[in-house]
Amino acid sequence: MVFSYYNKLSAARKRVYRMSDEIHAVPLPDGKALHRLISRLASALEQEDRDRTEKICRALARGLTSRLGVPLLRLKVLAVRPTTRMEELHGLYELAEGRASAVITLWMRTAKYRRVVAFRSFLRTFLHELCHHLDYHLYNLPDSYHTEGFYKRESSLFHQLVPEA
Ligand SMILES: [Zn+2]
Repeated sequence: MVFSYYNKLSAARKRVYRMSDEIHAVPLPDGKALHRLISRLASALEQEDRDRTEKICRALARGLTSRLGVPLLRLKVLAVRPTTRMEELHGLYELAEGRASAVITLWMRTAKYRRVVAFRSFLRTFLHELCHHLDYHLYNLPDSYHTEGFYKRESSLFHQLVPEA
């Protein structure tokens, strides 16, 4: 199955899309060693501790990028999610381009109710943005599309980090 925007892509982009769609999992070497960080992340979020959440996310980013052999990225955790006209922004991935490294920005609170984001959706957002990084640096794709394969890779990482889910 392909998403409807596939039909509007050029032939070259369709090739990239299909390459992305064909990769279904991201095997994580020694993912178990990161489980301790996952439970710390859940409690930092519960306590609404932005500094600690950011520190733990940075440690998690180091653990994940080093295990997967991709460049480290910068990570920022901000307080309230910005709203765009269409939808609330959950996370953001920015390519390194002129900077020293790529950047992931995550938001702790929903714009509407200012509630802290639930742990699982926060971690999902983190992994979603990390999957964009993997598209460029692990799979060497020239573009990063939201394909079915992309969402499977996101889930694959999630289940290796939260095995009881
Ligand atoms: Zn995305």
